[in-house]
Amino acid sequence: MKPEEVMEMFERDEAVLRGHFLLSSGLHSDIYFEKFRVLQHPEHLEALCRALAGRFGGEEVELVVGPTTGGMLVAYEVAKHLGTTFAFAEREGGRRVLRRGFVIPPGGRVLVVDDVLTTGGSVREVLELVEGCGGEVVGVGVLVDRSGGKVDVGYPLVSLLQVEARTFRPEECPLCREGVPLKKPGSR
Ligand SMILES: [Zn+2]
Repeated sequence: MKPEEVMEMFERDEAVLRGHFLLSSGLHSDIYFEKFRVLQHPEHLEALCRALAGRFGGEEVELVVGPTTGGMLVAYEVAKHLGTTFAFAEREGGRRVLRRGFVIPPGGRVLVVDDVLTTGGSVREVLELVEGCGGEVVGVGVLVDRSGGKVDVGYPLVSLLQVEARTFRPEECPLCREGVPLKKPGSR
């Protein structure tokens, strides 16, 4: 899948919102990916994850791990295409944990995935979890990197689409200064 095809899908599903948004990181932005408008279509999710899985086909991945909530779906679907297992990491007191009997075996080759990468916060939490369990991270895969490639997660990062979205600290936000109403989309 080419980046322009991914963008077309997000636009067609009306998942790309433009305006003035409060992100879960606390930053403000003029663009927001309402990712579940895409993820709610199983066939769209499947096509995206097939493409993402294809980028890690030679990595002998043993386990795919993603953070709740959208990352669970991506992890499941990527694992399906790689013919392996998946797990999801839940939030507990500012960090990520495995529940429900999920185990990362020491030395296990783990692919970490998520839907949309903004600051990389969720992905970093999952990476810490995997490292803490002694897993070997083979890479990070996301559907959309909206940092425009600026976020460094410390491992090879693959995205199907890179978007350079403008983000602002609240005190420096030009949209706030212009008095544009701030919307808080629910993601976490
Ligand atoms: Zn603002």
